[in-house]
Amino acid sequence: MSTLEFIKECQEKVFSGNHITSDDAEKLLNIPDEYLKDLAKCANEITRDFNGEKVDVEQLNNIKKNACSEDCTFCGQSAFFDTGIETYQLPTPEEVVSKAQKAKDEGAESYCLVAAWREPSKKDFEKVCKIITDINDKVGISVECSLGFLTQEQAKKLKELKVKRYNHNLETAKSKFPEICTTHTYEDRLKTLGIARDAGLELCTGGIIGLGETREQRLELTLELARLFPEEVTINILVPVPGTPLELQTDLPNAEIVRMFSVIRFLLPESVIKISGGRETQLDDSGEELLQSGANGIITSGYLTMGGNEAQKDRQMIEKIGLQA
Ligand code: SF4
Repeated sequence: MSTLEFIKECQEKVFSGNHITSDDAEKLLNIPDEYLKDLAKCANEITRDFNGEKVDVEQLNNIKKNACSEDCTFCGQSAFFDTGIETYQLPTPEEVVSKAQKAKDEGAESYCLVAAWREPSKKDFEKVCKIITDINDKVGISVECSLGFLTQEQAKKLKELKVKRYNHNLETAKSKFPEICTTHTYEDRLKTLGIARDAGLELCTGGIIGLGETREQRLELTLELARLFPEEVTINILVPVPGTPLELQTDLPNAEIVRMFSVIRFLLPESVIKISGGRETQLDDSGEELLQSGANGIITSGYLTMGGNEAQKDRQMIEKIGLQA
């Protein structure tokens, strides 16, 4: 069977409602360079068939920029590294409501509250719950949360508050994780995802690529994500932060990123696959190619510790490539 026939055969499996195997995913990820465009095209056709033309546009609010107790080597918010970032405490509900309203007015369908801590304290969790209640009452935008490790009770409370989706990333492959973080384990992360799922929350999970992992390790992460069957996958591309151990990490070639997004789409045809941090700075085209290679979501108007494109600019980019913002 030729390489092109193999890609088409995998696509046909997906269209007929079957899953590709982990061996198929490995072969697709290692497809020769000259077939990368075919792989991306087939991934795009799967996206359009299962998800239509709509791009899921999300805005984030980093509600607590912190000196976090964890030592994730890519993170500018870790207390272990001197990155000089500004820190602040939780804002008032009024401040967050006004930002959520602005996000809705700019066309965002979801608004994700993110806090840089290992896990919420009882007092902070109560404050976040009040913020969510006020957004529900006054704005009416889909609220998502990324609050670190959760207890079962906290997950149930978020579900009661109609939080749609909980974000908790795996960060990287299990085999790479001990090099990236030593203050908690991969299993800790999987546990919180299980707690969120058991409470009835949709899952958003993913990682950050370009940490010096091998392509094989990107496959490992991809297969773990597929196993979790999340409603949303979020992939960040490392933007090296001065002061962190990864400040001199070399950039991942764009072609490697296209490979990964394409294969994730073959594995998870119905999920939102979102291009997250690094889209504007680490890609040559702010994500145009990836939105035609498996991705169908973006984060707009900036990230946790860095700015991004304005919502209007991203909307124009989406419309330019014939998709709907
Ligand atoms: S990635 Fe999250 S858990 Fe790790 S240091 Fe940064 S804020 Fe803390």
